[in-house]
Amino acid sequence: MFDVLLNEDERSIRDEVRRFVRDKVERELILAMDSKSKEYPYEFIKAAAKENLLGLRFPNEYGGRNLGWVSEMAALEEVGVLGIALGCAFSLPSIVGEAINKFGTLEQKKEYLLPTLQGKKICGEGLTEPRGGSDFFGTNTTAIKQGDTFVVNGEKRFVAGGIGADYFLVYAKTNFVALPHESLSAFLIDRDMGVKVEEEYELMGCRGMGAARIVMKDLEVPESNLVGKIDDGNSIFNTMMVPERLTSAAGPIGMGRAAIEIAVRYADKREAFGRTIKKYEAISFKVADCTTKLDAARGLVYRAAKKADTGDWCRKEVSQAKVFATEAGFTAVHEAMQILGGIGYTDVYPIERLYRDARLATIWTGSNEVQRLIIQNEVFREILSEDRSLKRDVELDTPGAHKAEEKVYSEDPKKYYPT
Ligand SMILES: Cc1cc2nc3c(=O)[nH]c(=O)nc-3n(C[C@H](O)[C@H](O)[C@H](O)COP(=O)(O)OP(=O)(O)OC[C@H]3O[C@@H](n4cnc5c(N)ncnc54)[C@H](O)[C@@H]3O)c2cc1C
Repeated sequence: MFDVLLNEDERSIRDEVRRFVRDKVERELILAMDSKSKEYPYEFIKAAAKENLLGLRFPNEYGGRNLGWVSEMAALEEVGVLGIALGCAFSLPSIVGEAINKFGTLEQKKEYLLPTLQGKKICGEGLTEPRGGSDFFGTNTTAIKQGDTFVVNGEKRFVAGGIGADYFLVYAKTNFVALPHESLSAFLIDRDMGVKVEEEYELMGCRGMGAARIVMKDLEVPESNLVGKIDDGNSIFNTMMVPERLTSAAGPIGMGRAAIEIAVRYADKREAFGRTIKKYEAISFKVADCTTKLDAARGLVYRAAKKADTGDWCRKEVSQAKVFATEAGFTAVHEAMQILGGIGYTDVYPIERLYRDARLATIWTGSNEVQRLIIQNEVFREILSEDRSLKRDVELDTPGAHKAEEKVYSEDPKKYYPT
């Protein structure tokens, strides 16, 4: 692979994770998770922590490696080959860790971030509610201050690690008069503070990551577990969404790549009508298109990651990467299954499992509809704010242009729309 987009250090961590995925992750673990005989992949987390692979970009003192975002995304693509459930378990320390690292107190970093990256504590995040996930700021979960504790009431659903995690980063409403964006706060809530699991979901794919509904009823959460400032959940949310969406973009590239590799080898051997099916362009063009989309997706992910490294606002780039990569990943798995024909639809190959997994990627971590809303908002804001700052009047850019156009079209419509 011509990997000009990575420097030597980034290639090195990618190759290290590739070896870890190949040599240290048992196929039996994936099958046990998929058949639901295993509820949470603790051994995978412990193995990754032992190799110092969790939270690669966090400071050494908290168990990270001080690497950049591109390194982490290159690593994530490799883990993505294993499917979403393990990719998610690998990503959560980076997502929850981001909130703690950027906004947490020294004590929170010692008590939560360090053991998380050491694989000693498992984390989860509670954003989505039964009421809905897209309208995040409409949250119904509340945290009312009483002395030096907050009393938390509410439910979060689809929480990965709902079964399995030791603690959750949960958003709750703390201000009942402010605008929605100024009314939420983030808390670190230990399972043993009284979090109950009400329902484990039967999922189409991505099994074995403990996705469940968690219920918090009159939970007393110490004030010291508030992350960042009161009512400043918005800042924490925006910060967390960078790893949340970038990791969920990078994983499907690995899934799509794995599926296409299987399909290429299959098409090289499988014969129909006296020739190998790779000779039919209906087959080989799928490979061409999918590989092109996956490579483009990787470019978008690395671009967003590089921008994240600068610390600049990168919401548009992150959402573009999430939309494009999750759709490219799903298309690749879908087309790979088509190339394999009937056998692709069985569990002889992992493609059917990757297919079930990949379907989630366009729905979660902010659906792709929500990502498109973000992208269009950012594009309109960028272009129009530049116009305003330059005092440019768009309508007067080419004076008379609209009038001239109207005249041409009203002259003889048939000239332009021949029947
Ligand atoms: C297996 C799994 C694991 C998950 N893990 C977690 C987790 O660990 N933590 C967590 O907090 N959440 C998690 N989620 C939740 C996930 O992030 C949400 O499902 C997702 O954000 C969408 O929310 P929703 O399901 O409530 O759909 P809704 O918000 O009800 O949306 C329904 C549909 O309407 C569309 N829509 C909504 N608003 C708009 C709009 N303004 N314009 C256009 N379209 C719109 C959406 O795109 C979607 O297609 C997980 C979900 C699943 C299935």
